[in-house]
Amino acid sequence: MKRIEHLGIAVKNLEEAIPLYEALLNTPCYKREGVAAEGVMTAFFQIGESKIELLEATNETSPIAKFLSKNGPGFHHVAFEVENIEAEINRLQNAGFQLIHEVAKDGADNKHIAFLHPKSTGSLLVEICQEKSA
Ligand code: ZN
Repeated sequence: MKRIEHLGIAVKNLEEAIPLYEALLNTPCYKREGVAAEGVMTAFFQIGESKIELLEATNETSPIAKFLSKNGPGFHHVAFEVENIEAEINRLQNAGFQLIHEVAKDGADNKHIAFLHPKSTGSLLVEICQEKSA
């Protein structure tokens, strides 16, 4: 793992959360992007070499909608940047971790991503991501 790329935070309403996080972090939201397949709308803030990703559900079957109904808003996942996501998926599987995505898929912010199953990480939701080459 190269670094913490971002922390994902589930919110009920981006329109309310964006100004709150802009005031908290003292930096503007630089990007909003939907991921239709996941039923989420995201908003990003740059904090040094890492980012904050806010996640709002766009439909009731979204994983974020399920998370919010169970836990309420707040910390959702940590994302680690990796050099080679396919190699990292293999390494993690060989080390006994369970992947939600055994093949990397498209995520927000120009990334290939995969999530680990929280069952195998002591309940922490972990994402690994690799920047798509241009
Ligand atoms: Zn993420």
